[in-house]
Amino acid sequence: MGSVQIVTTILAAAITAVAVWLAVRAVMKMVAVIRLGQPDPSRFTDRGTRTKTMLAETAGHTRMLRWSVVGAAHWFVMVGFIVLSLLVLEAYFEVVSPTGGLPLVGGWVLYGLVTEWIGILGIVSILVLIAIRVRNRPTRPGGRSRFTGSTMWQGYFVEAVVLAVLIMGFVIRGFKVATDHFEHPTWATPLSHALGGVLPDWDTGVSLAALIKIAISMTWLIVIALNVTMGVAWHRFLAFFNIFFKRDPGRVGSGLGALRPMMSEGKPLDFEEADPEKDQFGVAQVEQFTWKGLLDFSTCTECGRCQSQCPAWNTGKPLSPKLLVLSLRDHAYAKAPYLLAGGGKDLTGEEKATAAQLAHVDVLALAEADKPLIGTAEEGGVIDPDVLWSCTTCGACVEQCPVDIEHVDHIVDMRRYQVLIESSFPSEAGVMLRNLENKGNPWGAPQNTREDWTKGLDFEVPRVGEVEDFEYLFWVGCAGAFEDRAKKTTRAVATLLNEAGVTFAILGEGETCSGDPARRIGNEFVFQMLAQQNVETLNEAFEGREKSKRKIVATCPHCFNTLGNEYGQLGGEFEVVHHTQLLAHLVATGRLTPVQPVDGGVTYHDPCYLGRHNRVFAPPREVLGSAVAGGAAESGADRASGLIEMPRNSERSFCCGAGGARMWMEEKIGKRINVDRVEEAMATGAKTVAVGCPFCSTMLNDGVNGKGAGEQVEVVDVASVLLRSVKPEQAQGDKTAEPVAG
Ligand code: SF4
Ligand code: SF4
Repeated sequence: MGSVQIVTTILAAAITAVAVWLAVRAVMKMVAVIRLGQPDPSRFTDRGTRTKTMLAETAGHTRMLRWSVVGAAHWFVMVGFIVLSLLVLEAYFEVVSPTGGLPLVGGWVLYGLVTEWIGILGIVSILVLIAIRVRNRPTRPGGRSRFTGSTMWQGYFVEAVVLAVLIMGFVIRGFKVATDHFEHPTWATPLSHALGGVLPDWDTGVSLAALIKIAISMTWLIVIALNVTMGVAWHRFLAFFNIFFKRDPGRVGSGLGALRPMMSEGKPLDFEEADPEKDQFGVAQVEQFTWKGLLDFSTCTECGRCQSQCPAWNTGKPLSPKLLVLSLRDHAYAKAPYLLAGGGKDLTGEEKATAAQLAHVDVLALAEADKPLIGTAEEGGVIDPDVLWSCTTCGACVEQCPVDIEHVDHIVDMRRYQVLIESSFPSEAGVMLRNLENKGNPWGAPQNTREDWTKGLDFEVPRVGEVEDFEYLFWVGCAGAFEDRAKKTTRAVATLLNEAGVTFAILGEGETCSGDPARRIGNEFVFQMLAQQNVETLNEAFEGREKSKRKIVATCPHCFNTLGNEYGQLGGEFEVVHHTQLLAHLVATGRLTPVQPVDGGVTYHDPCYLGRHNRVFAPPREVLGSAVAGGAAESGADRASGLIEMPRNSERSFCCGAGGARMWMEEKIGKRINVDRVEEAMATGAKTVAVGCPFCSTMLNDGVNGKGAGEQVEVVDVASVLLRSVKPEQAQGDKTAEPVAG
C-alpha cells in the first residue's frame, strides 16, 4: 500500500464510521417515532400476499409505470441504486489498492457487463428525472406543479448524488483501463474503455476517484441521517415496508373502497360499549394514528403525484394530500422528543408525564406538543379545518401514490374525532346528519314516500316478502327514491330489468340510507346505527341463501361500495353489483337489445366510488357504446369504442365534488369542482354526458346549468341512455312524464 492509499483508506474509513454511526442513530430514532403509533394487528396477516405484492410493486414498479417515462427512469435509478451499492462497496477495495476489486464477483464478465449498462442507463435516467424536476419546478413561469410545497433542495441533492456516484464509478473504471488493471472486455464495458482511452496512466487516480465516490456516498448518508424527515431519500428503504404493510395487499387499489372501522387499541370500536374517556374516538393527536400511519408519513417521497390529481388542490382549495402528509410527518417528528420522554395527553386531556420527565425536553418539542392537530393558523393548528373538510374522499391520491400511502383513512380518522367529540364540522352538514338520524335519509323525506318512484310504471315492482323468489334485491338508495333526477334512473333500471326478464324485489319502506355520507363525514355512530339496521333487514331478506345467491343491484356507487365492501365489517356478506355491470351483462347476453343509436356524441364521467374505489371501468362504457351504436357493435371493445373520452378518465377520472359528504357542504373556496369537470366534459363536444351515480348527476347537471348550457348538453345516467336505445318510445314517455328538477 502506497502513502496515497494509506491516506485514502484512513479518510474513507473515518467518513464511513461517522456516516454509519449517524445513520444507525437516525434509524433508531425513526423506529422509535413510528412505534409511538397505535397498534394495528391487521397489518401482519397474509404475509405471502404481502410479500408478493411488495415485490411486484417495487421490483416491477407496477404503480410507478403508470407514469410511463418517469416510471421507467425511476426503475433504472432504483436498480442503479442497488448496483451502485455494490460499486460503492468495491470502492473500499480500490482506496486500499488501485488493483483492488470486489471479491468473488468482481472479476466476472457478467458483473462487468451488468454494472456497466445499469450505470449507463442510470445516468440517462437520472438526467431525465432531473430534467422533469426542473421543468416542473414550482418557481417556473406558469405557476403550481406537483412539486409545489416539496422540499426541492432535497430532491436535487439526492439526484445530484446519484449522478455523481454513477459518474465516479466510470471514472474509476476508466483509470483502471488506463493503468491496465481492468479485467472486463471492451464489448462488455464500452464506456469504461472509452474513458480509459482519454484518462492518464495514473495508479493514484483509481484510489482518489474511489475516495471521492465514497465521500459523496457517505455525505449523502450523513445528510439523510441528520434529516430523518427527508422522505425523498428515506423512501428507498421505507417503501418496501410501507408497501408490505399496506391495508389490503391482495386488492388492486388497496386503501380504496372500504374505510377502516374506527379502531381503539388495535380493535374495532363497539359503539354499544364504547366510552370516549377510555376508548379512542378517531384521531386528535398525531400519536393516535396507528404505527402504519406514522410509517406512511415517514415514507412520503414528496413526489406530488397525489397533489397533481387532487380535485381540491386543482380547484384552488387549501387541501393537498401531499402537504397534509408532510404536515403530519413534520409535526410527528417535531413532537417526538416530548412523546418519547413520556409526554402525551390521556383521553380526558390530562398530561401523562410528570414535570421531572419533561424537564429536559426541548422547548420546541414542548411547543409542538401544544399545537392542536386540527386548528386554524391563528390557533397554531397542524391541519387547517378547511384542509380537512375540502376532501371529497375521491381516492385519486391513494390511487396515484407510488408508496401506497392511505390518505383517505387518515383524513376520515381526523374527521371522526372532530365530529364525534368536538361536534366541529361545517354547520350546513348538520341538517343532513339530523335527517339521517331522524328520518333515515339525508333529505329528510318521509319514509312512506320511498316507493313513489314506482307510480306509473306499467309493471308491478314487488317488495321482498311479496314474491316467492327473486334473483336480485334492487337497492334503490335514498337519491334513487327521493331525488327527481335519480328517480328517473331508478325507473329506467327497473324497466330494463323487467324487459330483460330479471326477477327482482325492493325493500321499499324497509330500506334506509346505507350510511355512506355519515361515515365519510366522520360520524361513525350514525353510520353504525344505519348500517346495523340495514344489515339486519338484508340478512332477513336473504335468510337461508348462501352468499353467492344474496345478490343486490344498486344504482348509487356509494351504496354499492358501502353494502359490498363495508357491511362485511358488521356481519353483512352480499354479492353487490352496480346497475351498469348488470346492464352490460344483459346486453352482452342478448337479453337487452339496443336498437336506436344515440346521436350527438356521448362522453362518460367515472364516479369515484364506482371506478377508482371499485375498479368498475368497462361495464358502463360497454353499455354506452352499445347504445351509441344502436346494437351494431358486436364485441365489448366495439361497444366501448363509441365513446368520446375526457382527458381525465378511468383511474385518473376527476371527481364531481360530491363525495366524502361534500354533497351536503357548501363549496366556498376556489373554483367549483363540478364546473371544472363540466368544462372538461363540454370540451369533448359530446351532447350527452353519461354518469353512473346520482350525486355525479346532480353535480354535473348543476354545473351544466350554471354555465347556461342546459339546452346543448344533457347529463343523464347510463341506464337512461340504454333505455332510450332499447325502448325509445317508453324512454320518451318517461322523459315527459317526470321533468327533471332543478
Ligand atoms: S381523496 Fe381526493 S380530494 Fe381527498 S385528498 Fe385525496 S385526491 Fe384530494
Ligand atoms: S403520491 Fe404519495 S409519495 Fe408522492 S407526494 Fe403524494 S403521498 Fe407522498
